[in-house]
Amino acid sequence: MLQKMTPSAFYMGTCPHDSDLLNTLTEYCHKQSITCGTIEAIGAVKKAQFGYYDQHARKYETISIDSHQEILSCTGNISLNEGKPFVHVHITLADDTGTAIGGHLMEGTVIFACEFHIHQFSGPLLEREYDETTGLRLWKNRGSMQA
Ligand code: ZN
Repeated sequence: MLQKMTPSAFYMGTCPHDSDLLNTLTEYCHKQSITCGTIEAIGAVKKAQFGYYDQHARKYETISIDSHQEILSCTGNISLNEGKPFVHVHITLADDTGTAIGGHLMEGTVIFACEFHIHQFSGPLLEREYDETTGLRLWKNRGSMQA
């Protein structure tokens, strides 16, 4: 599956202190009607919650970190899930020794400071639907690239 997208806008912003990282990014996408794009963020968090997908059990295991961390990298995409903008990002964090850990970002990651940018694209709608093979909600396979 490969879809051709056209850049349509570029946003740069910050997340408020003490806000939830995933919820804040998702709210910005709702407010700006961003339904297709890529997203990146850096900064620091007070605590974090992210997931590891157990491929046998086909469910996310939640990992909670209750300490201050640097956001080394937070990168992902924006598409549609059940008709609404859906932010799918993975986060890499580092503790006070520089040791890295990370996973699939979940609600429960509290911002100390965060700067992000979003590339918005126009093109065919990227919609998620349940995938039998993985148990995940993945982009629909439309079979070929569309102009
Ligand atoms: Zn993920």
